[in-house]
Amino acid sequence: KSTHFGFQTVAEEQKAGRVAGVFSSVAATYDTMNDLMSLGIHRLWKDHFVRSLNPGTRSRESQKILDIAGGTGDIAFRLLDHATTINHDSQTSVLVSDINPDMLAEGRKRFSVSPYKAAGRVAFLEANAEDLSAINDNSIDLYTVAFGIRNFTHKQKALAEAYRVLKPGGVFACLEFTPQLRNPLFNAVYKRWSFGAIPLIGQVVAADRDSYQYLVESIEKFPSQEEFAGMIRKAGFLLPGQIGGAEDEGVKAWEDLTFGVAAIHKGVKP
Ligand code: SAM
Repeated sequence: KSTHFGFQTVAEEQKAGRVAGVFSSVAATYDTMNDLMSLGIHRLWKDHFVRSLNPGTRSRESQKILDIAGGTGDIAFRLLDHATTINHDSQTSVLVSDINPDMLAEGRKRFSVSPYKAAGRVAFLEANAEDLSAINDNSIDLYTVAFGIRNFTHKQKALAEAYRVLKPGGVFACLEFTPQLRNPLFNAVYKRWSFGAIPLIGQVVAADRDSYQYLVESIEKFPSQEEFAGMIRKAGFLLPGQIGGAEDEGVKAWEDLTFGVAAIHKGVKP
């Protein structure tokens, strides 16, 4: 049986096409599905992610934020809300970038009625995270990517692009699922939920079992927290324990969320 986006087994090089098919299929139901699949917890993770970044500034200078794989704009909205209400910053702007025009269209639709659009604080760019040639070197203060990077074919290339576009002192921040929970019991329950329930919910709610099956499998293939921290370091970033010169073994290079179902990784461009 071939899936409706026309693949069975694909080579890594075909991954980009497959990912495009998946996100075009899920764009319209994506936000509802996120709530169902994560039991609403993705909202708490995203809130925490943005709070930990404290976007916006109380000084007169504004920040330029790039939200990669920004999809329907969930992170961009939170970044702008935080900057505005917590830091009273009405200048900081977000460029929402995604490879998929259907996901971007959902984001545009959501922003079309928001004051951020009228104030010119949000813009959209269709681009592959592995090639951000539309964006200048050293031009971005904060690069965010939430639940996106596991879909990229060449993750190290995307990290190199993140490094290139960030200003010195700029921050790379990633929120992503992890492939394995440390506690074997929780891991067993979690795998049962993700491999059993999520494709089923996808079938019932979005009539699209295959896309949601893909999403679950892509989590399984993503590197561990340690490995991913190593990749960020390899791209040239300083990890949290390395900022300020000496290596601090006591500082974790990432933050686990909800028993390690998801994790936040950050890096600073020296
Ligand atoms: N960041 C949003 C959120 O947290 O709700 C959306 C996450 S969604 C699971 C993943 C997004 O990654 C999709 O919108 C997809 O189109 C995008 N994506 C996949 N591969 C990409 C690539 N190579 N470059 C940029 N975006 C990509």
